Amino acid sequence: MAKEIPYKIYLTEAELPKAWYNVRADMKTDHRPILHPGTLKPVAAEDLTPVFCEELVKQELNSTDRYIEIPEEIRDFYKMYRPSPLVRAYCLEKALGTPAKIYYKYEGGNTSGSHKLNSAIAQAYYAKKQGLKGVTTETGAGQWGTAVSMACSYFGLDLRVYMVKVSYEQKPYRKAVMETYGAKIFASPSNTTEAGRKILAEFPDTTGSLGCAISEAVEAALTTEGYRYVLGSVLNQVLLHQSIIGLEAKTAMLKYDEYPDIVIGSAGGGSNLGGLMAPFMEDKLAGRRAPHFIAVEPASCPSMTRGKFAYDFCDTGKVTPLAKMYTLGSAFIPSANHAGGLRYHGMSPILSQLYHDGFLDEARAVEQTSVFDAAVQFARVEGILPAPESAHAIRVAIDEAIKCKESGEEKTILFGLTGTGYFDLSAYMAYNEGKMSDYIPTDEDLERGFASIPSLPGIQ
Ligand SMILES: *Cc1c(COP(=O)(O)O)cnc(C)c1O
Repeated sequence: MAKEIPYKIYLTEAELPKAWYNVRADMKTDHRPILHPGTLKPVAAEDLTPVFCEELVKQELNSTDRYIEIPEEIRDFYKMYRPSPLVRAYCLEKALGTPAKIYYKYEGGNTSGSHKLNSAIAQAYYAKKQGLKGVTTETGAGQWGTAVSMACSYFGLDLRVYMVKVSYEQKPYRKAVMETYGAKIFASPSNTTEAGRKILAEFPDTTGSLGCAISEAVEAALTTEGYRYVLGSVLNQVLLHQSIIGLEAKTAMLKYDEYPDIVIGSAGGGSNLGGLMAPFMEDKLAGRRAPHFIAVEPASCPSMTRGKFAYDFCDTGKVTPLAKMYTLGSAFIPSANHAGGLRYHGMSPILSQLYHDGFLDEARAVEQTSVFDAAVQFARVEGILPAPESAHAIRVAIDEAIKCKESGEEKTILFGLTGTGYFDLSAYMAYNEGKMSDYIPTDEDLERGFASIPSLPGIQ
């Protein structure tokens, strides 16, 4: 007889993953190499070690080891908030009247409120192991900065966070949490770096941007003895660490003889989706199973659905290496009415390659009012107030479940519920007051961003 599936599936200590899975080792085509912005040659480890920790550089460039052991110190920290629950959304299924089985992996159960802590703790660990004094980073909405604050305080590292000025002013509670964990926060642009002073001199009233905050954080790491820089998405190392999400989800599902037909994740820089789908992608690449993968992005920042697959800079300041990825151009800035996250112009090179090769089956763009419709519907029946980013995945999970209702198919759907929405209440207020609108960039808007993609004759 089939086992009855509980609302929440947890794992025993013995079932917890002891290694991360490196999907790159199994990809049919590796992503194109990251290029040095000066020489346009593939970057080597020694180009990256002034900026990143040595062990993380090795992970970044590792395309051969399928499994990389999770150090015991990191596994000990994971035990404080992992395994995260895999929830069978019985209440949502009932509300929708769908024959589909819906599962979500909930990553919001830690103080930082999102999956970003999974990589923050790993990056802080390797910085400590290298004997560093501290790290620098940038934060936009604040989830990443909060996660790094927690991780650095755990390992006794100093942390400087360059927080985009508009968030610094609008999200004082994010700043309060980071300071509680001992981080030093700068509103970016700041007058503590060359990059910041330059921007301030030119645009004294600027509210800042992620691109500028990255430039400041990288400069601070390069010019401060004993410091390195950490980043919360896009990079191979971050997708590697986030594979913990998918590994746990797969083990939990297999315990009940379950396997997803559809795997859905929101896609900003690609780290949560990359992590959730990794072990299922392993099966797909090996020809064992064929789940349908869907990346969900905002219609206002449509890097996969409308972007170009090209070499581009990873930051607005054009100081970082070039990556071959789906991009809207580093000069692309989503419209001001865009509420929650997922506003990065590019996409992880791993996800980009898998999408280009057809293994990541589909990208779908959704509009923000329909995203908030889904968020509220979900909050009311499943009892969790989702982050707006996560609600992109909810939107598509609901749409797929409704399709099953129409066709009578009993598909199994798995999606990533990446975080809570407690720090996004101004967006919920705008939605509740009917003040939220949708914005879809025109082709001309996109052309302006595409114009900033460098043309590199002879490089594909
Ligand atoms: C940062 C973030 C995302 C998007 O980033 P990815 O790197 O694409 O995963 C999604 N959900 C939440 C809650 C986030 O904080």
